[in-house]
Amino acid sequence: MNRAWSEEQALLRRSLRDYVRDRITPRVLAWEAAGEVPRSLFTDLADLGVLGLRLSPQYGGGGQDFWFTVVLLEELMRCGSIGVPVSVMAHAEFATLLIDRYGSPALRETYVRGAAQGRLIGALGVSEPDAGSDVAALRTRAVRDGDEYVINGSKLYISNGTIADYITLAVRTGGAGARGLSVIVVPAHARGLRRQRLRKLGTHASDTAELFFEDCRVPAANLLGAENEGFGMIMSGFEGERLVLSVMACSHARLMFEQARDWGHQRHAFGHPLLAFQVWQHRLADVLTRIEAAEALTLRGIELYLQGRAAQSEISMAKLFATETARFAASECAQLHGGLGYMEDCLMARLHRDALAMTIGAGSSEIMRELIARTNNLVAQ
Ligand SMILES: Cc1cc2nc3c(=O)[nH]c(=O)nc-3n(C[C@H](O)[C@H](O)[C@H](O)COP(=O)(O)OP(=O)(O)OC[C@H]3O[C@@H](n4cnc5c(N)ncnc54)[C@H](O)[C@@H]3O)c2cc1C
Repeated sequence: MNRAWSEEQALLRRSLRDYVRDRITPRVLAWEAAGEVPRSLFTDLADLGVLGLRLSPQYGGGGQDFWFTVVLLEELMRCGSIGVPVSVMAHAEFATLLIDRYGSPALRETYVRGAAQGRLIGALGVSEPDAGSDVAALRTRAVRDGDEYVINGSKLYISNGTIADYITLAVRTGGAGARGLSVIVVPAHARGLRRQRLRKLGTHASDTAELFFEDCRVPAANLLGAENEGFGMIMSGFEGERLVLSVMACSHARLMFEQARDWGHQRHAFGHPLLAFQVWQHRLADVLTRIEAAEALTLRGIELYLQGRAAQSEISMAKLFATETARFAASECAQLHGGLGYMEDCLMARLHRDALAMTIGAGSSEIMRELIARTNNLVAQ
């Protein structure tokens, strides 16, 4: 994205670009086939000093602001497989920032340090079979029993679900609704936790799982903050998650635009390069215009977020518009590729299907519109 990057951020970008080109992109096909990224990805990124960019320095993190996450994301997205940045973000941003923000010193020592070093992999477990958009309706219950919680229930669509060493889990500890929720860290080796990988339409390099908890016992000390204060924690995490999705969507859309533009120069029909046809030019002009608008909204959301200002409307608009732009770009750019865009060996095919999940995860487009309506007084009394 176009802004005045600091020298430190520019340096980080250069080293990441080389790393992604040489060490990630050539392996993406193997990871897509395996349905997961290898553990070495996390330790390699930790060695590069980019795994826990926003985690606290006293627990091994980088102590940086969100702009550094933007640089990391934009460069990881160049590998052409969304599953790679999804796995890294689910670990470092979604699962671990909450522990860093609300966990006890002992929890942070174990999980934040382990995460920053890439020794431990994290997952965030909120969604359930009967509660996705409606987080306050979640049912997985944790009951206090002495110095433990006993957890029963299940979670669905959890990124890093089977490869994770710990799950930052949203549970019900109180009555119905938002006020009865808590967040607890569940070690993956806890007895009573069973995991099953799900098959998906895209983002194949990212492991996505269903988790089952049957009398799963976890130390009470693994609770983040106080009992029944989890809803606010989950919501505070959503702001960063939605900006992560916005940045990913902008980068993804731009990559698809570049693929189509290059194909338009290369491919000839009726004696001309395809880009000689005005229809082609105008369709790509539309895609590019939306990308620029999505980036502007995303930059604005990030600025407000970093200033600590109320930004729910702007962040929701950024998430909505950027991810819908990625879908639009996917459809347009795939069409412009002709038959080639439908072939599995063409990068465009993967980019096309990978674009589809972004309007669902971290709050769907419909929920973003709900939030925009609510924060802009568009709801009739
Ligand atoms: C690839 C992938 C990775 C994911 N990773 C994670 C993860 O790591 N951790 C995690 O906790 N979850 C994860 N999720 C789950 C994701 O957050 C949910 O899928 C999402 O919140 C939507 O919930 P749902 O699927 O239950 O859909 P539902 O809530 O059942 O909604 C179904 C449809 O109805 C619409 N809808 C719902 N409520 C309203 C309303 N009030 N008004 C209008 N329309 C509405 C929705 O927008 C959607 O289109 C992941 C999902 C995917 C696809």
